[in-house]
Amino acid sequence: MIKKLIERNKKNKQKTVPSPYPLPTLYWERTLGTLLLSAFIFLGSLAPVQAKLNIIATTPELADITRRVGGEWVVVESLAKGTEDIHAVPQRPSFIPKLNRADGVVLIGLEAEHAFLPALLEVAQNPNILPGKKGYIDCSQLIRAMDVPSNLSRAEGELHPFGNPHYTVDPRNGALIAQRILRGLIELDPTHQSAFEKNHQTFINEWSAALENWKKQILPLKGLKAISYHADMVYFADFLGLELVGTIELKPGIAPTPTHLAELVQRMKKENAKLILREIQYSEKTARWLAEQTKARVATVTTMGGAFPDTQTYIGFIDHNIQSIINSQR
Ligand SMILES: [Zn+2]
Repeated sequence: MIKKLIERNKKNKQKTVPSPYPLPTLYWERTLGTLLLSAFIFLGSLAPVQAKLNIIATTPELADITRRVGGEWVVVESLAKGTEDIHAVPQRPSFIPKLNRADGVVLIGLEAEHAFLPALLEVAQNPNILPGKKGYIDCSQLIRAMDVPSNLSRAEGELHPFGNPHYTVDPRNGALIAQRILRGLIELDPTHQSAFEKNHQTFINEWSAALENWKKQILPLKGLKAISYHADMVYFADFLGLELVGTIELKPGIAPTPTHLAELVQRMKKENAKLILREIQYSEKTARWLAEQTKARVATVTTMGGAFPDTQTYIGFIDHNIQSIINSQR
């Protein structure tokens, strides 16, 4: 689909075909008045109203933080749905006009969005949101990436070539994400810098209070051994003090084999792993089977906001995951 659009765009650039059917004179006379009226309305609408920034975030939790910082001066929409796999978000044609009109795109980066964003940016014909431009707000820029491979290769289906991109699940990164978004919005609209800074501070105060509360709640989880389906819980496990002993996937993006699952059961039993982190976008069946084999408990978690009714906000998204894990161990 996207390849076709790229081809079509190239063709359109090459030639513009004039219409072989000129409109009759009478039509033009009738429409002239309407056109003038439209022009006046358009010009009138420019004067008193200050434009809001039109921002596209790749994920719902990034959209929420952008909304918090931008306040009344931004309109924000997310491309991915919370229940989707960030590595497999479809390249929906409806994304193209949204990106074409956007003043900025807020993204996870570290190639998390490789399945859809680069191709869409190529066809959206919006030079302001391309990598390196101020409208390209890559939130990974302030993050210290974990699991950075020594060998940059996709040879074996490697999905994390620049390090693990699933850092938004770790609440400690909330402030760094908000900082990057604040900088991006100020660059795009310096006239509202003080409003953005004020909104940002309000968000940080709320985030900080929530973080202190979570730190107390998670104390009993320290040292708990766990597995997840995909390698998307490394930052979060580091925050929680969990020890990850494996993944259901053979490697990021590579489905489990029967041999791998048999080995995983043995390892979980040997290590006394008590927690299976089952991300909402992956199969529940394998997680339940492993739970039966090992007596570990399953906690359903999400790697993006918006997956559950209580995860519409960034703070709600983090809180949902933490409460799900705490509840699984009761
Ligand atoms: Zn991944």
